[in-house]
This record gives sequence, structure tokens and C-alpha cells, in this order.
Amino acid sequence: MKEIILIKGGELVLKGLNRKNFENTLITNIKRKLRDLGQVKIENLQSTITIEPVDEDFDFETALERVSYVFGIAAFSRACICEKTVEDIYAKAPVYLKDTLLNVRSFKVEAKRSDKGFPLKSPEICREVGGILLETFPHLKVDVHNPDLVVTVEVRDRYAFIRAGQLHGAGGLPVGTAGKASILISGGIDSPVAAYTMAKRGLVLNAIHFASPPYTSIRAEQKVKALLSKVAKYSGPINLAIVPFTEIQEEIGKNCPEDYFTLIMRRIMMRIAERISREHHSLALITGESLGQVASQTLPAIVETDSVVNMPVLRPLIGMDKDEIIRISKAIDTFETSILPYEDCCTVFTPKHPKTKPRPGQCEEAEKGLTSMEELISRAIDDTVYSVVE
Ligand code: ATP
Ligand code: MG
Repeated sequence: MKEIILIKGGELVLKGLNRKNFENTLITNIKRKLRDLGQVKIENLQSTITIEPVDEDFDFETALERVSYVFGIAAFSRACICEKTVEDIYAKAPVYLKDTLLNVRSFKVEAKRSDKGFPLKSPEICREVGGILLETFPHLKVDVHNPDLVVTVEVRDRYAFIRAGQLHGAGGLPVGTAGKASILISGGIDSPVAAYTMAKRGLVLNAIHFASPPYTSIRAEQKVKALLSKVAKYSGPINLAIVPFTEIQEEIGKNCPEDYFTLIMRRIMMRIAERISREHHSLALITGESLGQVASQTLPAIVETDSVVNMPVLRPLIGMDKDEIIRISKAIDTFETSILPYEDCCTVFTPKHPKTKPRPGQCEEAEKGLTSMEELISRAIDDTVYSVVE
């Protein structure tokens, strides 16, 4: 029996004239995800995308798994294709649904009929198919309010489909519909969650990581790549820039007042990230900051880090509690990697009493000792190493 995957777009439905673009991007993203599994035929009709395998040995289970990661999908399901005749629907329903129905006690049938020329109306389809299923599987009861399973019959323009339930999609908007931005990625819990959250709103991600060997180890870089590869399951491939940061941190350590170390380090990170982003046509920076979480994330500190860049800094976690962030990081499977104990460049040269309420002008004053700032920044950018994480 021929099976397909049925996909319902999410917020796409709301996008008016842009809707076609959004749907086309979604279809491109789905195709890319399934490319190595074999040939498929993808159609988009009446806000439902159907994926029909062409090859006999198409790996259906893996395809369903991958579809569950694609942003822009509200719900998806497997379904069987029927001819648009009552006979074919009646014949296939009990055979296709057998295994599922043997595992439930109650069900109801819903029907959607977009072809108004079909001889039966929706309530009649429900009654007839329901009757056949009850007869074939005598252990079943119909429960219209709280069934174990909803069987849906959709009569569309060329075919009818039968499906048992449906699964939640990843939600959000298709990656690529919102432009490109750069996530400043550390090895911590927050920044991978921030990356996921913004990719979910349709952004393509570039990533920038600051490494300070030998204070930070190669394992810290591998950890960042491992985290990005978890995010890339949702976002698609991510271009990663690893910026050598040791010399800059040592210069800050030598030439700036200790209580400003973290703030100045963050201001330099932002300056470098902005330049790299502009070179790669990335329109904004993204960080995993959450208000008040640590000394450098108080509002006055954020004012001082923002003031050195001329592009928007997106902070999707700014109003979230740590438990909410951890909940997402567990759901996207980055948590266990994030808590591996490799040091980040933020944890070396940490001041004993970090400045939490810098006033305007104080950071500039504290940076005055860094006479070769421009040169340091240019050198770090020149020596940045690029790779792609999939
Ligand atoms: P995270 O859990 O993301 O590390 P955090 O709570 O530890 O965040 P900080 O260490 O102050 O907070 O970092 C704040 C943000 O700055 C991070 O979310 C990240 O976006 C960015 N950041 C910190 N360290 C680095 C780094 N080594 N490279 C790139 N970005 C970094
Ligand atoms: Mg951190």
C-alpha cells in the first residue's frame, strides 16, 4: 500500500502574499533534509505538502524523523494514498490501520473533503468508515470526545488519504525566510539555546567562537562543534568562525583595571563579531544573555556592550529563567554536552569583583591602556579559522 508523508505548514498560513515564498523555502529545506534518502515527489496543494517516495527502498522512518526537525511545520503524519472512490477508501482503511487499531480501545473518524464533488459528504464518510472499522475490529469503541486515536480521511483533488493521528512539527518559520545572523557561541548552556530559538524564527545561522589556547583546550572547541551540530539538525549547516582570542585577553589582563576585564573582553568580542558578520552578510548578532544572570548581564553592562556595535544584538533569552533555558536545552539535546567541564575563555581572567554597574564613559576610560586595540582586532580577524558544521 502506497504511503506518503503529509505536512501542514505552521504560521505560514498567516503570511498573505509572502506565503508562496515561505512555502517554497520550506519545500527546499525539506528536500535538502531528505536528499540522501532517495528520490521523492513533493507537491504543495491547498496548504498541505505531500512527500511521495519514488524509490522502493526509501527509508520512511528516517524521513519522518528528519521532517520532525524542520522549522515551519505545524504537524505531520504518515498516510496511505487511495483512489478517490468510496470503494478504495473502504477497502484500504481496515488494512492500512490494522496495526494501529489493534493497539487502541477507542477511536473516532474525521473527514475533510476539499473536493465538493465527492459523492459522500464528510459526516457520511465518517459514519461509513467508522462502521467498517467497528465491524472489522470488534474490540473497538467509538468515542467522539476522548478517543485513543483519531482516524482522518482527507478527500483532496487527485487522491484521498487515510491517516491515524498526527505528530507535532518543530513549529516556527522556515530557515532562510528571515535573513542571516551570527550567534556568539560559547560552550555553555545558553548560547546553543539562543541559536536554536532564532533559527526557529527563520534565520540562517553563522557562528562565532572565541578561543584562548592554551588557557582553553581543543576539547572546548570540539564541544562547541558538537553543540552546533545538534543545533544544525534544526537550522541546517552552520558556518563557524573560530577567533584566536589569547593575545587580546592577555593584553586586557596586562593593561586594564581588573574589575573591567569581563566587560572589556565582551566589548571586544562584539566589535570582532560585528566585523566578521558584515564580511559574511550577516545582519545581526545573537547572544545567550539573560538579564541579571551574571555580572556582565546587568542592564548597565548590556548598555556598555551594545554601545560598541552598530548592528542589532538579538538576545532571545533575555527574559527567561535558567530553568526555562535548561528545559529547552534538554529538549534539543544540547544540555548534556553543555555541562561537560571544559573551560571557556570567559572563565580565564575572571575578576574577583566584576563591575556590575558601569557608568557611561567608564569602559572607554578603562580601555585606554589598550593602545594597540585596532591592531589586535585586525590580527585576530586575519587569523580566524572557518569551517562548516552540519
Ligand atoms: P553561555 O551559557 O551561553 O556560555 P553564560 O551564561 O555563560 O552563557 P557568559 O559567559 O557571560 O554567559 O556569556 C554571555 C554570552 O556571550 C554567551 O551566551 C555567548 O553568546 C557569548 N559568549 C561567551 N563566551 C563566548 C565565547 N568564548 N565565544 C563566543 N561567544 C561567547
Ligand atoms: Mg559562558
